Amino acid sequence: MIPRSFEYFSPRTLEEAVALLQKHGPDAKLLSGGQSLIPMMKLRLVSPDYIVDINRIPGLDYISESDGHLKIGALTREHELESSDIVKTRFPILADTAKVIADPLVRSQATVCGNLAHGDPANDHPATMLALGATVVATGPKGKREIGIEDFFPGLFTTALEAEEILTEIKIPFPPPHSGGAYLKLERKVGDFATAGVAVQLTLDDSGAVKRAGIGLTNVGMTPIKAKQAEDFLTGKNPDEATIRKAGELAAADSQPMDDIRGSAEYKRDLVRVLTTRALSRALDRAKGGT
Ligand SMILES: Cc1cc2nc3c(=O)[nH]c(=O)nc-3n(C[C@H](O)[C@H](O)[C@H](O)COP(=O)(O)OP(=O)(O)OC[C@H]3O[C@@H](n4cnc5c(N)ncnc54)[C@H](O)[C@@H]3O)c2cc1C
Repeated sequence: MIPRSFEYFSPRTLEEAVALLQKHGPDAKLLSGGQSLIPMMKLRLVSPDYIVDINRIPGLDYISESDGHLKIGALTREHELESSDIVKTRFPILADTAKVIADPLVRSQATVCGNLAHGDPANDHPATMLALGATVVATGPKGKREIGIEDFFPGLFTTALEAEEILTEIKIPFPPPHSGGAYLKLERKVGDFATAGVAVQLTLDDSGAVKRAGIGLTNVGMTPIKAKQAEDFLTGKNPDEATIRKAGELAAADSQPMDDIRGSAEYKRDLVRVLTTRALSRALDRAKGGT
């Protein structure tokens, strides 16, 4: 339960933080909310020689709107999503997601960017960001680069970030009119990681047909999964009961769960089917002006 000793740095600028990561390479770990890193260090699953704590760098804690995007800075904590008016009114799927992550104590420290950077397929934000078509901004020695969320999770606990890069911002396009989203998760008890979770973001055209469908799946594969078959099937269709039912079956086919303490692969696949149909119905209600 006691981490191995390490050298601690508390840089005051991003440049300084990047330089430290560059100098110490894979022996260094960046610390933001600490809600995944510190438990892993205590269990000695990771034992970095150097910790680069970014919490004292000013200007990284924001939820803002510009250039048609919602922007979330590296030090924005989960609880800030729950209380943000712009999130509640324009991105209810994000508010849904934040409030089912862990418990209030964890959410007061855990960062949204850290939730993605950790690369854990059991984390809830990756599926939601896949549904929303987000982009992440990585800052490194050569400046900033943008990575589409679909390319961000190449493998288990792995991201497209280089060792010396910091995930400094998440950019989410503002949904056009007639859009709605929802995140649903089944957990064994409050505070647990998902047995399975489904994020759905829909945009309807003027006739009520689906113009864009984004569907992300939590904890039913080695990486967060984009349910492409279900998305493609929905696009251009009138989302009636039969269409929603079929989309649920296709999302289940897109999932790749394994047997574990949370249930059998078969059970989780069926859970994805059920959660997808329910999340689609809620997203549809919201796209039509419901809450
Ligand atoms: C009891 C408990 C229950 C939990 N339940 C859930 C849950 O139900 N759903 C869920 O989604 N999560 C859950 N979590 C995880 C929690 O949301 C984590 O905080 C989150 O996964 C990581 O965010 P963090 O800011 O705490 O990152 P840290 O713990 O500081 O870092 C995690 C990893 O990401 C890297 N990292 C962090 N920030 C950045 C960045 N900006 N740029 C580059 N690399 C970075 C770190 O180097 C480290 O490798 C739970 C955690 C606990 C302790």
